[in-house]
Amino acid sequence: MSIDAIRSAIRDVKDFPQKGIIFKDITPVLKSEKLFKEVIDIIAKRYEKKKPSAFVVIESRGFIFGSALAYKLGCSLVPVRKKGKLPYKTIEESYALEYGTATIEIHEDALRKGDEVVIIDDLLATGGTAAAAAKLVEKLGAKVSGFEFVIELAFLKGRAKLPGYNVNSIIVVD
Ligand code: AMP
Repeated sequence: MSIDAIRSAIRDVKDFPQKGIIFKDITPVLKSEKLFKEVIDIIAKRYEKKKPSAFVVIESRGFIFGSALAYKLGCSLVPVRKKGKLPYKTIEESYALEYGTATIEIHEDALRKGDEVVIIDDLLATGGTAAAAAKLVEKLGAKVSGFEFVIELAFLKGRAKLPGYNVNSIIVVD
């Protein structure tokens, strides 16, 4: 029931940010104190017994969900940002977009060997961003114990880029 309410609250915005894209707008979910809490509680439940060392959050909407989770469970929060945004020493990972490439970064001291993290973003599309974030985590010697997404666009087959990982999404769009 509440999953249906979350699904209904996600707004499709046609041709944003460019023609041909149907943008999944999560701001109506955030606006509803009930639904935002529901999303956080659904994800938090999976980790309350075994808390991750950190939630690794992907710029920018991953920050919103991940920070609430880190606060709720008392876990550390580690941002992955677009190139040039993090102030200290970073390592980077590039990945292919439909046109061109994108690069994301993490602080080189953000994680340690032995850390087990959960990577958070609002949406799984082609999986390029999430796979690159996992590479950053692993380059620092940490382990990815799962991915959490609010929405998964299953027709883009992003899961195929995350083989062997535990991948959860609340709303699946076929
Ligand atoms: P991808 O690397 O293709 O899996 O893209 C994932 C990233 O792009 C996430 O950070 C999403 O927030 C964003 N994104 C991709 N497609 C959409 C979409 N249709 N609606 C909203 N956000 C999207």
